[in-house]
Amino acid sequence: MEINGLPLIVIAMEAEATPVRDLLGLEGVGSPIDDTLNARIWSSERIHLVVNGMDSRFGIDSIGTIPAALTTFAAVKSSKPGLVISAGTCGGFVRNGGHIGEVIIADRCVFHDHRIALPGFSEYGFGEFPLADMSEVASSLGYRLGTVTTGDSLDAPFVDLKRMDSVSAAAKDMEAAAVAWVSSELNIPFTALKVITDLVDGEEATETEFLANLQYASERLAEAIFAVVTKLHEPND
Ligand code: SAH
Repeated sequence: MEINGLPLIVIAMEAEATPVRDLLGLEGVGSPIDDTLNARIWSSERIHLVVNGMDSRFGIDSIGTIPAALTTFAAVKSSKPGLVISAGTCGGFVRNGGHIGEVIIADRCVFHDHRIALPGFSEYGFGEFPLADMSEVASSLGYRLGTVTTGDSLDAPFVDLKRMDSVSAAAKDMEAAAVAWVSSELNIPFTALKVITDLVDGEEATETEFLANLQYASERLAEAIFAVVTKLHEPND
């Protein structure tokens, strides 16, 4: 795949980003991308990485679609990337063959919690965002391609699960579709790279499983980002 500029990796949580920065040699505290945002960006000759930073009032990572969109907008404006990658952890699905630590690259990206039953707005809410074709990168690295589906809740009520089933979801997260929307508005190719921390249709409670596997999955995420970025920098034959 040929890209016209460096990849920009967008990550929500500090715990997800730390192993990635360590592996990619991105040192220091990063730079602000905007006076009014807590997001910080690290850049090397191979990559830009931006992390949302902490919520000013609650002092925890700014996760979810709103910070993801703002961070992506500001970071794209400042770094002018050739590809935006929404990277992080996700819920996986036993019924779709998912397992903890599995890497998924998006070949479809939608929202599962935007239900707007008005003419034209249903499709708008669903999203079905344009995606960069990562099939060669995924197959050469042995990563699965699948549907990444986004909503603003960690839980999965029946109405959302029905939507996830209808797209055979492989990864459920809280940011990818928001990053995709901004990338599409700004005409920058987009993909998502997710690693499973918990199983949406598994036996364990999501919160417990998520926290137990966050460190392990973030290390797998770092390796996957390293591998994908290396692949993207290889000359095309
Ligand atoms: N209580 C946790 C909150 C993490 S929310 C904490 O503070 O440590 C989950 C984050 O990981 C989001 O950024 C989301 O994109 C991703 N994620 C992992 N598993 C998920 C799931 N099952 N559903 C939705 N998002 C999930």
